[in-house]
Amino acid sequence: MTDSYAVIGNPVEHSLSPGIHAAFARQTGEDIAYEKITAPRDGFESVARRFFAAGGRGLNVTVPFKLDAYEFADRLTERARAAGAVNTLALQSDGGILGDNTDGAGLVADIRNNLGWPIAGARVLMVGAGGAARGAMLPLLEQGPAQVHIANRTAIRAERLAREFARHGVLSGGGFDNLDSLQGTFDLVINASAASLSGELPPLPGALIGPASHAYDMVYGAQPTPFMSWAAERGAKTADGLGMLVGQAAESFMLWRGVKPETAPVLQELRARLQAQ
Ligand code: NDP
Repeated sequence: MTDSYAVIGNPVEHSLSPGIHAAFARQTGEDIAYEKITAPRDGFESVARRFFAAGGRGLNVTVPFKLDAYEFADRLTERARAAGAVNTLALQSDGGILGDNTDGAGLVADIRNNLGWPIAGARVLMVGAGGAARGAMLPLLEQGPAQVHIANRTAIRAERLAREFARHGVLSGGGFDNLDSLQGTFDLVINASAASLSGELPPLPGALIGPASHAYDMVYGAQPTPFMSWAAERGAKTADGLGMLVGQAAESFMLWRGVKPETAPVLQELRARLQAQ
């Protein structure tokens, strides 16, 4: 029997997840159907309940429902608890719903395996302190960076995030205006802010990045983002977040099906399709 999965969000029409999971299913021979579900902004719980009551096996959860999904889950993985948000729900054999967060693992897998950029021992700057930055924190810190500084438009959110994860590593956090006081370049700068979505560049001093740096923007698309262009002009290697998207999907697929798909061919195909648009 074909097992049913979906991505739930609002808006969700442009989600790339159905194509990614269809490619994983072809590659692994898993018999799944995967659709898109738009839920009303205040209607996540009833739509999700209906989906599982009708025999659905798992959901990917996107904006704006990751906190609703966190509340909805009967139990949580450690990384979902650390993220404070859930992007994957899975029906378990006892009928309970497990909530997981695969975004951070997707990011780390892309940086480490696809791009081959070092994280262990690296000096890392995380730009942004929203859900994506929070979700990345535990998987990133598990890789053993030497130091992580969080910079955010609203300084207090960065300070809080740094305090919250302090027991996992050497963390500091603040606003963009105190970045000038940090000496030297960073090995890895991750843009987890939503600035690129509106074509903006966070006010980052040029001195914190150089030819030996790596710059990762979680936003993805056919064009380099302003952050990627800014970093490339200073000689840094750059990447967008498409590999993270495919990586988090692979982690969800693994949770649901117990089979880990290969991400590289799917990422390549998706990149070619986006560039042809
Ligand atoms: P949130 O709304 O939770 O957080 C947004 C963050 O961006 C906050 O830190 C906010 O700062 C900051 N921000 C927003 N606009 C600007 C701006 N103009 N200049 C500087 N900072 C800004 O969003 P998420 O954390 O969920 O998502 C962040 C980004 O990550 C999005 O662009 C999203 O597309 C991407 N993402 C990509 C994924 C992937 O698979 N590739 C997965 C998940 C997210 P403040 O606190 O001051 O408001």
